Amino acid sequence: MAGGLTRFVYRASQILAMLLLVVFLAELPVAAQNSAVQTRTRKNSAKDLSRDSSKPKLVVILVVDQMRGDYVDKFQQQWTGGLKRLVDEGAWFHEAAYPYGSTETCVGHATISTGAFPASHGMIGNEWWDREQQKEITCTADASVKNIAYDGSAAPGGGDPAGSAHGSTPNIGPNSVGDSAARMLIPAFAEELKFQSGAGTRIVAMSLKARAAITMAGHQADSVTWWDGATGLWQTSSAYPQAPFIAEFVKLHPITEDYGKTWAPLLPESAYLYDKTAVNPGAPTGYGAEFPHPLRGGPDSKGPDRAFYLQWATSPYAETYLAHMAENVVDKLKLGRGPSIDFISVSFSSADYVGHSFGPRSWEVQDELARLDRDLGEFFTHLDKTVGRGKYVVAFSSDHGVAPVPEDLRKTGVDAGRLNVEEVRNRIEQALEPLHYAKPAVSKIDGANVYFTPDTYAKLKSDAHALQAVIDSIQSAPGVARVYQAEEVDDRPATRNPIHAAEAAGFLKSRSGDLLIVPKPYWIWDYSAPGKPGRNGGTSHGTPNYYDQRVPVILMGPGIRRGRYYETATPADIAPTLATLCGITLATQDGRTLAEALEGFHSARGAGSSQTRSTSDANTPSDR
Ligand SMILES: [Zn+2]
Repeated sequence: MAGGLTRFVYRASQILAMLLLVVFLAELPVAAQNSAVQTRTRKNSAKDLSRDSSKPKLVVILVVDQMRGDYVDKFQQQWTGGLKRLVDEGAWFHEAAYPYGSTETCVGHATISTGAFPASHGMIGNEWWDREQQKEITCTADASVKNIAYDGSAAPGGGDPAGSAHGSTPNIGPNSVGDSAARMLIPAFAEELKFQSGAGTRIVAMSLKARAAITMAGHQADSVTWWDGATGLWQTSSAYPQAPFIAEFVKLHPITEDYGKTWAPLLPESAYLYDKTAVNPGAPTGYGAEFPHPLRGGPDSKGPDRAFYLQWATSPYAETYLAHMAENVVDKLKLGRGPSIDFISVSFSSADYVGHSFGPRSWEVQDELARLDRDLGEFFTHLDKTVGRGKYVVAFSSDHGVAPVPEDLRKTGVDAGRLNVEEVRNRIEQALEPLHYAKPAVSKIDGANVYFTPDTYAKLKSDAHALQAVIDSIQSAPGVARVYQAEEVDDRPATRNPIHAAEAAGFLKSRSGDLLIVPKPYWIWDYSAPGKPGRNGGTSHGTPNYYDQRVPVILMGPGIRRGRYYETATPADIAPTLATLCGITLATQDGRTLAEALEGFHSARGAGSSQTRSTSDANTPSDR
């Protein structure tokens, strides 16, 4: 009897063990399953990269515009979808930050896409002063191409769809030129993939912003799509093919369908970290300082108009739209199901508009991410079904962080404010007035970059007294930490000063300013009219301060060891890591392969040693 019971228990435990094994195998991390696939397929003699099934079938780069690194720590409790999956299944580089000072959209996207710093890829800002043309240009401005809207009309180019990175200042477009990657000095990862893989890699990128979609795709691509906030139309340029599947999608799904909707909180009130009412917001017309936000244009709106378009861009509806557009392209092009490694990038701009408007300590930013989490969850489920789980690799990051709203922080007694650019310009002109310099001495101040009129800077360099007067005048402006001369940061000088190094990494002599201004911590750029500082609400980014530099870097998919990593990393490491996974080589060594997050990694002291300081273990789901 006892023996029978023992046998029964033994037999039952055997069955249980087998069941557990089945469950365990089913639950094995994708990366581990893939390493089994790798072992099997290495024996096959693949003729090109695309037919080597150890490689991903699809590379996905997702960028959330203005997502500071600590948002993951602060808000992940509310996530259940795609952002949660990235944190749980991905390799999360917790300490990732841009190592340069020009923390703007075009710069960040070009850095992610090329694996290089602005000194190499040349996209030193969203805009800069073109010394040859003596005018300000955008990073994607290209007079040799024309923008084409997806209703067939000619479309404006050059500007920001919904206000520039300067915050709530008007954009500098529309102008007569179109948009392309002509000013990006090296190829994007996607272009290298297509060129080196010897097969038909398809390249697709989309965003509300031209400078985000274009820099991610590169100089040539199969479909690059962005949006114009003046007309509400999706567009591309003659640099890229007109994509019938995009035309069809936007015709079937006009954004005007969102007119009349109201953005209200998704989560229960108790889930929000901060005060419901934003401090000194810089929100679109028709939006108040707190939820709910109606998408009905301005007070006189009778239908979808420019005010509505700005509200729409500053809402989660635009992110949902982009995610659906991406799913549609994956279906229409059968991305990840051809003979090649395909590429898709989606940059979600609304997080930036919401962040500029309400600041990082707002219900709106937290809510927008909670909704994006759902959108991305759906997107990944779609990729699981179409491409297959474990067959696509995802890189997730942001183009820059953000400062708190200065007036919000100042309540705590901390020095914070708005560094008025026009005031700086006036001070320089006044300093040079008694020294007999031609007026005006300054052509343009664009963020940190001070550009003098032709010959003025050459004259200043041989006139130590006048140059010192100029530098003193800038440093006396409220919010200025220090001023660098171009010569101090050219050719990336060795320095232990991180601000100096940051200014050097972002500097390209032909495009950057003659002088560079570094704001004090918690002082943001202000482009409002002189004498009216603080006119603008909301907040901004674009400085070498850490809150502007820090962003998430998360990798997920085949070949990636999940875990939380505390090594130093930058978003320039994304492209080299993807290049390693796909077996190609990039143009520069600015970024590094994040080897510690790759399957098969062995450090000098062994994987997981104190040297790597990683909590990663592909087979230990509890390590997150
Ligand atoms: Zn921005």
